[in-house]
Amino acid sequence: MDCIFCKIISGDIPSKKVYEDETVYAFYDINPMAPVHVLIIPKQHISSINEVDETNSAVISHIYEVAAKLAKELGVSESGYRLVSNCGADAGQTVFHLHFHLLGGQKLKVEMC
Ligand code: AMP
Ligand code: ZN
Repeated sequence: MDCIFCKIISGDIPSKKVYEDETVYAFYDINPMAPVHVLIIPKQHISSINEVDETNSAVISHIYEVAAKLAKELGVSESGYRLVSNCGADAGQTVFHLHFHLLGGQKLKVEMC
């Protein structure tokens, strides 16, 4: 499968790893939008939120656990942060492997759309 994030998980494309376990991988975004900008992805290829169902949704709750842990480690759990997953064209999704942006380290814009 020609998926850039699957290649990052396999190590075929380099990344700056922040965290890894059996089901999840996290790494720094190559084009950071905030002082802290980490991507958290499932190791299983799921294209977007549209593909989440009862067979794979356990990984989503695990991603939230990992996000809380990383927010603490990266020093933004108290100051605040945003966890965002873009789905489809109108949201500007560019990589079709489900990912959650963890953004923080500055006052984030209030506008959501
Ligand atoms: P989205 O627009 O929500 O699909 O987000 C995709 C994100 O992946 C963007 O913020 C990109 O900067 C990021 N990205 C794309 N390629 C890489 C890469 N090789 N390493 C790290 N981040 C990447
Ligand atoms: Zn993939």
